[in-house]
Amino acid sequence: MNYSALLLQSGLDKIDAQVLFHHCTGKNRAWLIGHGQDEVDPAHAKVFNPLAARRRTGEPVAYIVGTREFFGRDFVVNPSVLIPRPDTELLVELALERAGDGASVLDLGTGSGCIPITLKLEHLDLDVSAVDLSPAALIVAQTNASGLEAAIRFFQSDWYQALGDAHFDVIVSNPPYIEQNDHHLSEGDLRFEPRSALSDEGDGLVHIRSIISGATSRLNENGWLLFEHGWDQSAACRALLDAAGFDEVQSWRDLSGIERVTGGRL
Ligand code: GLN
Repeated sequence: MNYSALLLQSGLDKIDAQVLFHHCTGKNRAWLIGHGQDEVDPAHAKVFNPLAARRRTGEPVAYIVGTREFFGRDFVVNPSVLIPRPDTELLVELALERAGDGASVLDLGTGSGCIPITLKLEHLDLDVSAVDLSPAALIVAQTNASGLEAAIRFFQSDWYQALGDAHFDVIVSNPPYIEQNDHHLSEGDLRFEPRSALSDEGDGLVHIRSIISGATSRLNENGWLLFEHGWDQSAACRALLDAAGFDEVQSWRDLSGIERVTGGRL
C-alpha cells in the first residue's frame, strides 16, 4: 500500500489524517505529497492506524495530538479543558483594544489559559490574573503559561470568590453558556470536552448573570466587562448588562457573522 492509500483508507477527513500522520511520524503534508506513491513503511502504519481509529470514534484531533493553535501559538490541551476556538480570538482582540498600558486584567474560567496567556504575550505591560474552579484545568493553564513564558497569576476560584478585594480594569470570560438540553452537547467534539466547561446546567445564562453581578463591584471606574456567549444570547446579555448599570453596552460579531461577544463599560 502507498501513503496516499494509507490516508485514504483511514476514512478520515484529509486534514485530520495529515495532522495525525504528522503527529506520529514527524512527516508533514509536503512530505506526504512528495511520497504519496511510495510503499508505506510498516512502522508508519503501525503508529498511524491506532490514532486514526481513535479519531473515527469521534475523539477530537486536539486531544489526540495534545495541542491546539490559538492566536498563532500552540497550547497544550487535554480532556480537562475546553479546546480553544477561533471565535474566542475576537474576545482577545476586543480586550487588547481596551486594556491600556499597565491595565489589570482578569480572565474568569480560564481553561487551557489561552485567553490570559495571549493577552499577556500580545501586551507584556498588562497585569494578568486568571481563575478556574477546576484544579485539573489550572494545571494545564500553568503548563501553558510556563511553556510560553507568560507571567500570570492563577487562582483556584469559584468565579470571584478567591480574589479578596482585588479590582480590575478589564474582566473577560468565555464561560460555560450552553443550555442544559442543547443537542449540541451530545454531538461532535463537545461529547469529549468537560461538560462543566460547556454547560451551566440551566438556561445558559446562569454563569453570565454571576459574572455580571460580580463585575459591578470588581471593576475599576470605566472598566470593561467582555464575555463570549451563545449564538442566540446577545440580546439577553445586553439586557443584563443594561440592568446592572453598564454603559456602551454592545455586541460584536465573530468570523461567521454571529454576535458572539457582548460587553460594556462600568
Ligand atoms: N477560557 C477558555 C477558552 O476560551 C475556557 C473556556 C471554558 O472552559 N468555557 O478556551
